Amino acid sequence: MGLGVERFTTQLPEHLHCFVCLDVSYPPVIVCALEHQMCESCATELRKSSSKGKCPMCAQTMLDPVRTSGVLKRAIEDYEVTCRYTGCKWVGCLLDEPTHAKSCDFREIPCALCKTPYQHSRSVQHMLVCPEEVVLCPQGGKRCARKKRCELEKHLSDFCGQWQCRVVQGCDTRTSLANLPAHEKTCADAAARIAKLEEALSGRNETLATILTELRAKLDSLDPTRHASPPRFDWPAGQPAERTVSTCTLVKQLLTRATKRRHRRATLAATALLAKPLPSPHVAVLQESAPASPPAPALA
Ligand SMILES: [Zn+2]
Ligand SMILES: [Zn+2]
Ligand SMILES: [Zn+2]
Ligand SMILES: [Zn+2]
Ligand SMILES: [Zn+2]
Ligand SMILES: [Zn+2]
Repeated sequence: MGLGVERFTTQLPEHLHCFVCLDVSYPPVIVCALEHQMCESCATELRKSSSKGKCPMCAQTMLDPVRTSGVLKRAIEDYEVTCRYTGCKWVGCLLDEPTHAKSCDFREIPCALCKTPYQHSRSVQHMLVCPEEVVLCPQGGKRCARKKRCELEKHLSDFCGQWQCRVVQGCDTRTSLANLPAHEKTCADAAARIAKLEEALSGRNETLATILTELRAKLDSLDPTRHASPPRFDWPAGQPAERTVSTCTLVKQLLTRATKRRHRRATLAATALLAKPLPSPHVAVLQESAPASPPAPALA
């Protein structure tokens, strides 16, 4: 096989194609005395085949060894090609392509751990799946010893005792994969019983709430004052409709009225007090300081 025509950005003339595989004849070799040329790999294949080293064009014995055609090689190397690695956007003449390929981001390099070749720019992605990478157990995390990714499946199925209960949220049970279904069955039964009890309890609560509402209604019907309308506010006489009086005006009027009433009461009280005859304070003092009558003289 020569070099695929799809690698070239332009179509190459007929004489630069290998007449055996029809690819571009690269590297091109002269195979017979008549200077018929083909790609090196086709020449190698022909020598091993049943034609026993005859040129397919002229049936003459093939040269041994075949010789590279420098003229054709240089002619082909001047043509523009794409990079050999998929995804790379590099384009340049065939002569420069090997140099580019050595540092191409899309070149394939073997993984240091598993030896599988991967694209140089995709090393992060490869490490996420590399079978030789040492990783944490997805069930146990740090509780389990670190394992190679390729050993993880066996660890999880046969050895890991850190499988978590999946049926009841918050269940802390950790067990092996083999014991997990048995635990989950028990755990689910327990959860179902709790749910049933909770349901029964909420039913009872509803009944109690209904009874309480009925009792309240009965109590209200026995006590008419509970539903009496609030006492009406006594608006000052001669006021316009209740809502048209501003609160400020109303308060001022009420205050004035209260002051007048207090003043009137005070005046009445003073008048009443003055009308009453009072005992003379002087007499009262004299009466108070008068000496007590001496005791009766003893009989002789
Ligand atoms: Zn060929
Ligand atoms: Zn020939
Ligand atoms: Zn490239
Ligand atoms: Zn790897
Ligand atoms: Zn584990
Ligand atoms: Zn559980």
